[in-house]
Amino acid sequence: NVLINLKDVSQTYGTGGAAVHVLKGADLTVSKGELVALVAPSGAGKSTLLHICGLLERPTGGAVTVVDQATEKLTDRQRTLLRRHRIGYVYQFHHLLPEFSAIENVMMPQFIAGANEDKAKARSIELLEIMGIAHRATHRPAELSGGEQQRVAIARAAANGPSLILADEPTGNLDPATSDKVFDALSALVKEHEAGCIIATHNHDLARKADRVVTIVDGKVTPAEL
Ligand code: ADP
Ligand code: ADP
Repeated sequence: NVLINLKDVSQTYGTGGAAVHVLKGADLTVSKGELVALVAPSGAGKSTLLHICGLLERPTGGAVTVVDQATEKLTDRQRTLLRRHRIGYVYQFHHLLPEFSAIENVMMPQFIAGANEDKAKARSIELLEIMGIAHRATHRPAELSGGEQQRVAIARAAANGPSLILADEPTGNLDPATSDKVFDALSALVKEHEAGCIIATHNHDLARKADRVVTIVDGKVTPAEL
C-alpha cells in the first residue's frame, strides 16, 4: 500500500565550493489514498523533492521506491514509461496545449500511452465531470478561467489513471475561493482512485485539509504543525 518510499535521499547541485545540498537524508512515505501537503519556504527543496518522486531527477544518494518499483537500476526509458503510466504531474502554470480544447488536452496523454479514441474520450469526459468542468469540454484554454484551466490540467494529469499525483503549487496563481475548488477537485480524484498525492503549496488553509502536512527542514522531511 506504499506508493512512495524515500529512504535517506540526498540531492546536491553543483560541486566543490559551489555545491548546494538541498536534500540531506530525507525520508518520506506516502500510502494509497493519502493526500500529503508539502509546505516549506521558497528554496527549501519542494520542487526538488517532487521531481525526485516523479522520476524527473535522480538523487545523488539514497533509495527511491515508487509504485512498488525500486528506481535506482531502471534505465531512462523504464523511468519514462513508469512516469507516463503511473505518475501524473501538475504545475503552477498549467502548460495546456493552447490550440486544443479541454477534452483534447485530456485525451492527449492517453493517445501517447496507446489508448484508442473512444476509450480516451469516455475517460476524459468522466474526469472533466469529477473536476466539475464537463460543460467546458470543447473550450480552448484561453477561453477558460484560471481555475478551470488548472482543473483541466489535473484531469490531464489523471488521464492514464496514475497511482501517484504530484502537484507543484497547483493553486499558486489562483484566488483563495478558486484555490479551494481546485484543491477539493484534486482531493476527490485522489480519494476516488485511491491514488497517492503530494501537493506542494504555500496556502496553509488548503494544507490543513490534507491528510497530513510535512515540511523540509535542513534537507529532511519532517511533520509540520500549521
Ligand atoms: P522550492 O521548490 O522549495 O522553492 P527548489 O527545490 O526549487 O525549492 O530549490 C531548492 C534549492 O535548489 C534552491 O536553492 C535552488 O536554487 C536549487 N536548485 C534547484 N534546482 C537546481 C538545479 N537544477 N541546479 C542548481 N540548483 C538548483
Ligand atoms: P518551480 O519548480 O520553480 O516552481 P515549475 O513548476 O515551472 O517551476 O517547474 C520547472 C521545473 O520543472 C524545471 O526545473 C524543470 O526541470 C522541471 N520540469 C518540468 N517539466 C518537466 C518535464 N516534462 N521533464 C523534466 N523536467 C521537467
